[in-house]
Amino acid sequence: MSTDQNQVWKNCIDIIKDNVSMQAFKTWFEPIKPVKLEKNVLTIQVPSQFFYEWLEEHYVPLLKRIIRKELGTEGRLEYSIIMENNFDNANPYTVKVPTTNKKAIKNPAVSMPLDMSDNPIRNPFIIPGLRKLNIDSNLNPNYSFDNFIEGDCNRLARSAGFAVANKPGGTSFNPLLIYGGVGLGKTHLSHAIGIEIKNKYPEKTVLYVSSEKFTHQFIDAVKNNSVNDFSHFYQMIDVLIMDDVQFFSGKEKTQDVFFHIFNHLHQTGKQIVLTSDKPPVEMQGMEQRLLSRFKWGLSADLQTPSLETRIAILEKKMYADGIELPKDVVEYLAYSITTNIRELEGALISLIAQASLNRKSITLDLAKQMIDKFVKNTAREVSIDYIQKVVCDYFDLPIELLKSKTRKREIVQARQIAMYFAKKMTKSSLANIGLHCGGKDHATVLHACRTVNNLQETDKHFRKYLDDLEKKLNIQ
Ligand code: ADP
Ligand code: MG
Repeated sequence: MSTDQNQVWKNCIDIIKDNVSMQAFKTWFEPIKPVKLEKNVLTIQVPSQFFYEWLEEHYVPLLKRIIRKELGTEGRLEYSIIMENNFDNANPYTVKVPTTNKKAIKNPAVSMPLDMSDNPIRNPFIIPGLRKLNIDSNLNPNYSFDNFIEGDCNRLARSAGFAVANKPGGTSFNPLLIYGGVGLGKTHLSHAIGIEIKNKYPEKTVLYVSSEKFTHQFIDAVKNNSVNDFSHFYQMIDVLIMDDVQFFSGKEKTQDVFFHIFNHLHQTGKQIVLTSDKPPVEMQGMEQRLLSRFKWGLSADLQTPSLETRIAILEKKMYADGIELPKDVVEYLAYSITTNIRELEGALISLIAQASLNRKSITLDLAKQMIDKFVKNTAREVSIDYIQKVVCDYFDLPIELLKSKTRKREIVQARQIAMYFAKKMTKSSLANIGLHCGGKDHATVLHACRTVNNLQETDKHFRKYLDDLEKKLNIQ
């Protein structure tokens, strides 16, 4: 039996890999570091309280089995949690938690002086003196969970959002920070959380506000000498949803006032939901103490949606608006616009508008013309998925075969051609291209590109294939 924690953990990891999905493995096990092995106790370091709770909730049977196998029946696992929610000490410190003890670790208690006057508090949204119950949540009913399509790209953020909505302030996802690129659903998801809370807990005061609006309100409050009212108003909220916090960057005074509001809400068990276009580590111009609070709960990202998710989003939208479109048009849209759901929806709407204005029926040709105009400025990149589709259509092969591991000659050739075009026309890495084309490694892709180049020079028919395909790919 091995006595070194790294070796023991490595053995554990090997078993875990076989028992959980790749995604789960990357999310929950890769960040773990073995710290020590003493007697039969293996201590692993996890990045946060939330991590520990998640592992306990979802992976205890598996971990127990593995520890027993690696360390015998006396074997035990202990967690060491990096705590970031420490006010005075910037360095993370660690706490030990045995697997059997599920007691939550409390944040170091902190009290903030609060001047609670009895005066009515001015509501920066409307008129001074409004009472708490009258606060409008600013939620858009269309941005509900029902209308939010679930996919691999948003699964963690969506389920964390749902957990928060079920138990606002009562989970370790506080704050819940949702981050991701433009048009990927941050605003939608944050509204969905608010709407769901309002449905479940009508008595709770939920408020959605963009950071920009908050900033303007604060500036007005400074002008009107009503900063106290401003802060008190926000401190009364039960669920505060602050959209696009990256907007606070470089605005020290606003960050300062938000910092105090944040502390007050957090200490009183209120829920905070934040969105941002970047993860906390990449936020510039943000005070350290605020950034560290952003990391207290859970940061969950929204990634670009897969082809299936894009199609599902389009179909949902069409259904909601009572529109029907030919399947190839829907697929074409989904293949062409890959990185921004707002653009995807925009293209759908323009297409419908165009068709109805010109009394034309919506065909693939019309879609192609329109997309060209619509996304002209955004230096569009062909997607690997689309390349595969065009290549498969051309050779009349099912796309599943191309993505499979089969070594049949004609499939291998089509696959190599798809790899070649993916290398030529996208910014994807060789490794990523390989992954998309039958789970091959980067060396295989490199070999494919060389083979295609060689054949192109020596084989006339082959060159014709490539020319045809290149034309098809370019006119999209
Ligand atoms: P962000 O705030 O990240 O820029 P939005 O939340 O404004 O993005 O989303 C842009 C558009 O895409 C909205 O119309 C939204 O309804 C839609 N959208 C985003 N994600 C989804 C999804 N998973 N399902 C359905 N619609 C979505
Ligand atoms: Mg937004």
